[in-house]
Amino acid sequence: MTLQAIIREADCIGCAKCLDVCPTDAIIGAPKFLHQVLADDCIGCERCVPVCPVDCIDLIPMPDAVDPEKITHEKRLERKAHFGFLAKRRKERLLKQKQQAKQRFANMRDQMKDLL
Ligand code: SF4
Ligand code: SF4
Repeated sequence: MTLQAIIREADCIGCAKCLDVCPTDAIIGAPKFLHQVLADDCIGCERCVPVCPVDCIDLIPMPDAVDPEKITHEKRLERKAHFGFLAKRRKERLLKQKQQAKQRFANMRDQMKDLL
């Protein structure tokens, strides 16, 4: 049985720790706000479960319509392409964030030089 994550919204404290570990960016939300899982984007990898400090992420059986064990070959290929796209998009996002952080650091360093 393939599983899918869901967040018990009433218990979520919005710490955003689950966002960092999700390989498909299936969790949406911002710091201090409750988070939700996009059902179509979750692969049930369970990485988000142990990082949640309040244990508010549950794993439930995936609906038959998207369960890779129950769908047609064509649908499986379609989902594989979808998750490939999500993984690529996440990789690009992380790279962009890294470059932005690097740029911010360089700007700060330049400002410090000007002050000295
Ligand atoms: S189970 Fe995996 S894919 Fe699904 S929300 Fe958690 S980390 Fe993301
Ligand atoms: S790790 Fe848990 S408490 Fe923190 S944002 Fe995610 S679901 Fe909410």
